Amino acid sequence: MLPSSTVENYLKAIYLGQSALTGDERLVSMGHVAAALRVTPGTATTMVKALSESGLVEYEPYSGVRLTPAGERLAGLVIRRHRLVESFLVEVMGMSWAEVHEEAEQLEHVVSERLIDRIDSMLGRPTHDPHGDPIPDAEGAITPRHLENLLTCPIGTPLKVTRIADQDPSFLRFIEDNELKPGQPVQVDARDPAADAVHLRSRDRELTIGARAASKLLVEVDAQ
Ligand SMILES: [Zn+2]
Repeated sequence: MLPSSTVENYLKAIYLGQSALTGDERLVSMGHVAAALRVTPGTATTMVKALSESGLVEYEPYSGVRLTPAGERLAGLVIRRHRLVESFLVEVMGMSWAEVHEEAEQLEHVVSERLIDRIDSMLGRPTHDPHGDPIPDAEGAITPRHLENLLTCPIGTPLKVTRIADQDPSFLRFIEDNELKPGQPVQVDARDPAADAVHLRSRDRELTIGARAASKLLVEVDAQ
């Protein structure tokens, strides 16, 4: 079976599903895979069985699926192409970071290894894309790194936005309008669980956001 764009999209969805597993969860549920690919559970199961026969995933009926090392490498390379294309579109083409995801969804399947290597070196071999997502290396590997979000981070401590865990254009524009892009300073002043709200400041502006938005802003303690 050739790594068609459908295969690549399944591998990518399972990869991203795996990185969102918590605690002792080991498998990505078929419901998650079907929802991510916007297909019926039956379609997802048929495809995952085919991937299993190709040695790219381990499928456990009624439990879920996870990537084999071969599947993980292929998925990592698709994500590498995606994130390098996004970086290129923002840095070189001057496109908005809010609009490049959809373009990259298409281009990630068609850019050649030669072109992607050229883009990589032209951009100075970046480690993160404009959303702060890590770019896998040429072997498809990512060094895992634990980040807090605005719901879990310490209160009253200077932080730096590191990554935005959502690609929705309207959310990204909201982030940009409020100067909360990766690299920008932020600090949580208080959390209000009753109102599901997080009060924060970025530079000299104060802002209150909902818990769901706060969970998508990944941060690290600002070393400076
Ligand atoms: Zn993207």
